Amino acid sequence: MSVALDSNTVLYEEKTLFVPRLDEVKEVLQKALALNFQEVTVEIVDCPNLTNEPYKLAGSGLGGSPTLMEVGGPPYLLPLVDRTKLYDMKTLAERAIGANKDILAVGAGAGPFPLRGTNCEGIYNLKIAADGKVLNKSYSAKVHGPEEKCVLESIPNSETKFGLLLNLFLSEGKSGKVLKVHCKKRIGSLNFIESIRFALLDFYKEKCVGLGGMFLMKTGNAHQHVMRDFSKTPINTEEELNQWLKFYEMPAQLNAVGTLITHENDLDLRLQHFHSFSSSNWGGHYHYDTTPDIVEYEGYFNIAERVIRVDKPVNTHQFGRD
Ligand SMILES: [Zn+2]
Repeated sequence: MSVALDSNTVLYEEKTLFVPRLDEVKEVLQKALALNFQEVTVEIVDCPNLTNEPYKLAGSGLGGSPTLMEVGGPPYLLPLVDRTKLYDMKTLAERAIGANKDILAVGAGAGPFPLRGTNCEGIYNLKIAADGKVLNKSYSAKVHGPEEKCVLESIPNSETKFGLLLNLFLSEGKSGKVLKVHCKKRIGSLNFIESIRFALLDFYKEKCVGLGGMFLMKTGNAHQHVMRDFSKTPINTEEELNQWLKFYEMPAQLNAVGTLITHENDLDLRLQHFHSFSSSNWGGHYHYDTTPDIVEYEGYFNIAERVIRVDKPVNTHQFGRD
C-alpha cells in the first residue's frame, strides 16, 4: 500500500497576496480581454450554484477563505519520477482552511498513480465537509491501450491521495460575489487563461494577484495533453517532454478547474494550470482552443487572499510548466 507524506510535517510556506477590488478587476479584464476575443463580458455576479448543470462542481460557491495551494512540482516528475511524492489532499486542505469547516477544493495536478497503476492526470473537484465526509467528483485521465485512447475515470470518495504536483483553489464553497468572464470568438493568440493572467500582470505590475475557479469551454475544440505512464528514460528537454506527453484535440463541452497567479512570488510557483473533465471520455491539461472562430468560454473565478506552497522542490527547473 502506498502511504502519503504527512501533511502536518511536510514543508509548508504561506504568503499573503494582493487582493484588488472585484469592480476594478472587472474593468481591467473587460478592457484587456477585448484585444483577444471579439465578444467579452466581464461581470461581478452572485455565484451561481456550481453544483448544478452545466458546471458540475462538488460545492456550490467559491467564497470563504479563498486560497491558492501549490504542492510539489515538475521536478518530482522530470527527468524521472519520484514515487515517494504522494500526498493527501484532504489533510492538506484541512490544514489550510481548518478541519472544522466545509472546504471546496478544485484544481489541476497529477493523478493518484497508485490507484490507477499508471501515471495519469488529476482533475480535482471535491468537497470536504466540516464532519470530514468527502464528496469526490474528481476524475483521472490516462492514455490507454495500443490505440492510446484517452480514458476519463471517476475517483471514488475514499481516495484523496494524489502524486507529484498540484495547483488547487481552496475555499469554503460559500456563495457570494465572483467574477464571471464570458468570451466568444478568439481574435488574439493568447489562450483564455493567459488573456486573464497577462491582463492582471499588466495592470497590477509587481503586486502579486492570484485567482482560481472554473470555466466552461462551451463550443469548439481544445488542444490538451494527457501524461503517458512514467518514462523509463530521463526526460531532460522540452522536446523530449512533448514526445512523452500525448496530445489530443478534445471537443466541447469541457469543464476546466484550476488556478492562475501573476508571479512566482519567490515560491517557485506554476503561473497557470487548468485541467478539464467532460461528460464523455475526454479529460486533460488545457493548452488552448484550436477553433478560434467558434470558441466560447464562460468562467467563474474568485480572487485568492493567500498562496500556500507545500513541499517546494529544492532542486528546481523551468520546463514542464506550460
Ligand atoms: Zn497539468
